[in-house]
Amino acid sequence: MQITLSTTKKEKPQAEQLEFGKQFTDHMFIMDYTQGQGWHDPRIVPYQPLSLEPSAMIFHYGQSVFEGLKAYATPEDEIILFRPEKNFQRLNSSNSRLCIPDIDVDFALKALKTLISVDKDWIPQAEGTSLYIRPFIIATEPYLGVSPSEKYQFIIIMSPVGSYYKEGIHPVKIAVESAFTRAVNGGTGEAKTGGNYASSLKAQEVSEKMGYAQVLWLDGVEKKYIEEVGSMNVFFKINGEIITPALNGSILPGITRDSIIELLKHWGLPCRKDASRWRKFMKPIN
Ligand SMILES: *Cc1c(COP(=O)(O)O)cnc(C)c1O
Repeated sequence: MQITLSTTKKEKPQAEQLEFGKQFTDHMFIMDYTQGQGWHDPRIVPYQPLSLEPSAMIFHYGQSVFEGLKAYATPEDEIILFRPEKNFQRLNSSNSRLCIPDIDVDFALKALKTLISVDKDWIPQAEGTSLYIRPFIIATEPYLGVSPSEKYQFIIIMSPVGSYYKEGIHPVKIAVESAFTRAVNGGTGEAKTGGNYASSLKAQEVSEKMGYAQVLWLDGVEKKYIEEVGSMNVFFKINGEIITPALNGSILPGITRDSIIELLKHWGLPCRKDASRWRKFMKPIN
């Protein structure tokens, strides 16, 4: 992998000033795909704008996928990632749904680790802060026909971030969305793709105006079964039992969700004993 170091260094934000996804580290990873050649030219370069033709397919038909994960600095000065292979495996599941060629999970992980070590000074140290990592793939072929692109770029950018909620972890108001639909079985809800977010913005905007922080999505057919919240899965504790909607084809399979299910099992908590309840749980909410 070719590494071109930046000749200038950006100023790093103070821990108190960290916002989500507004500042980026000095470098990025990028790799190209050309049909017939496969993925090629992996490289780490200074963080910079992309040069794409206006006809690049990403701008017209939305063929893109992404991931989100974090690197943390431990008090012992180690850098840790949480189950990062799961993110690249899920990127491939999303790829498959969007007709984007697979990436090599081990190679992507190696590339990410190299990028992190190049920009390791960007990992914030303060409690509750981390380095947010955004791998993504976009269709870059200059062509206006509707078909899968024959060219792509796989890019990883990184951004130092503070805690997700400004005032720390505390209850937020959630609006149960009964008009708009995020996804339906057979659609792209299971894939981490930009289009799902584009179609969710309106509901988010309307609910924010009404004083809610997030939308709780219901199933797109009957509008009565709980699916997930804006960009995260949900768990409930009802009569001592912990329950979460089963993955049904329109819910994003969260790695946090999977980890919580594994932890609950490990701790022997009630949800473990009755797997069928996971499916039956989704009861009408009104
Ligand atoms: C990314 C995402 C999640 C959460 O996934 P994690 O792997 O737990 O971070 C949940 N729902 C949607 C719609 C998402 O895009």
